[in-house]
Amino acid sequence: MKAEDIKNLKIAIIGAGYGGAAAAKALSLLGADVKVYEQAPQMGEVGAGIGLRPATMARFREWGIFDAVAKVSSPSDYFEILTAAGEPIMKDTWPEFGEEKQTYLIHRGDFIEALLGVLPEGMVQLGHRLETIEDKGGRSVLTFTNGETVEADLVVGADGIKSVVREQLFSDKGPVFSGEHAYRAVISADDAHGLVFDDNLRMYIGKGTKVYLLPLRHRNQMSFDITALNPDGTWAPEVTKEGLLATVDGFDERLVNITRGLDMETVNIRAVYDIDPVDTWHKASVVLMGDAAHSMLHHQGQGANSAIEDAGALADALAQAGSVKEALALFQAIRKPVTDELQRISRQGWSEEEVNDVFPGQKPAAQMPTSQKPTSVTAPAQSKG
Ligand SMILES: Cc1cc2nc3c(=O)[nH]c(=O)nc-3n(C[C@H](O)[C@H](O)[C@H](O)COP(=O)(O)OP(=O)(O)OC[C@H]3O[C@@H](n4cnc5c(N)ncnc54)[C@H](O)[C@@H]3O)c2cc1C
Repeated sequence: MKAEDIKNLKIAIIGAGYGGAAAAKALSLLGADVKVYEQAPQMGEVGAGIGLRPATMARFREWGIFDAVAKVSSPSDYFEILTAAGEPIMKDTWPEFGEEKQTYLIHRGDFIEALLGVLPEGMVQLGHRLETIEDKGGRSVLTFTNGETVEADLVVGADGIKSVVREQLFSDKGPVFSGEHAYRAVISADDAHGLVFDDNLRMYIGKGTKVYLLPLRHRNQMSFDITALNPDGTWAPEVTKEGLLATVDGFDERLVNITRGLDMETVNIRAVYDIDPVDTWHKASVVLMGDAAHSMLHHQGQGANSAIEDAGALADALAQAGSVKEALALFQAIRKPVTDELQRISRQGWSEEEVNDVFPGQKPAAQMPTSQKPTSVTAPAQSKG
């Protein structure tokens, strides 16, 4: 689209998570009139770490915000996968993207703060919970639970896994329970039993449990994440310390000791959900992105990274196409095949045979009762980050 047409474009982004904040940056750099509407009265994130991949960091460089993110993160060269007992299975460098070779490990709270911190004052409107959305062709009408009504030429639905935009305009299918829980905490490196010694991500795997250690050395901390099989699909289930310890039974003693030392008040406990692929992400003046479009299981560490890539691709499409309508179709054509595949891989994991190949002599899946078999084991080349 011509620069002056983009400048006249009034864009409303729903949700100020990673996807919405990144889209606000990318679209305002094109000159569009952008506002972000966020339901929360103030922003916060769960205590956990996340890895920002080389492709994500390349976008940040392009948008001039690389330093703002890099200064609150630690660059990592590789990731490692180990058995429950701590024997190495594989070690690999992160997939490169152009000049970018490292993945930046960051606390989720620092990440959202850095992203929102580069947006101009007033761009994000907190306390705005979207209630209804109506696509009227070239414009859309939004109503919020606080009584406000907004009209926009383009609405970007970045409102996460329980998206109202998706539910009202694209699909009435709700989130799908994976049969797993995620237990996440950020602990002091001093309580990590010697396991914080470099800046690389490690995943210990066995008996249907994955333990992710993501060092945050710039904070003298470590993000400790146990993902374990559990049939309770309650969104925020209650789990005791004993329950947590049972998931790491037989793991490297240091991991058991870290678990034993956790302050349960600080552990974020969540049942793990994703969504089925959504057939179409756009209408005349509305588009979905991030988890709203393609929430995926976290085993590949690609959800937040995909949301950032969506933001970049949406801005590129608007700059390249002749109209909003064409741009939204182009955006979907570029991004949906990629995220469809990530959604599929993150659900599929390895087959039992492949798990057995990876654990020669140990064969955890074959030796376990059916209820304990790993349903979804991270593919090494795409390990969580
Ligand atoms: C256990 C776990 C571990 C993960 N680990 C990783 C990882 O290592 N790497 C990775 O890349 N990804 C990871 N993810 C995935 C990642 O967290 C998500 O993919 C990412 O947060 C999606 O960003 P988003 O902006 O699309 O959605 P969200 O972060 O969910 O943001 C949506 C925003 O919209 C707001 N909102 C919702 N409804 C409304 C409404 N009606 N009106 C206004 N605002 C609204 C919400 O308050 C929120 O601020 C993990 C996820 C889980 C559950």
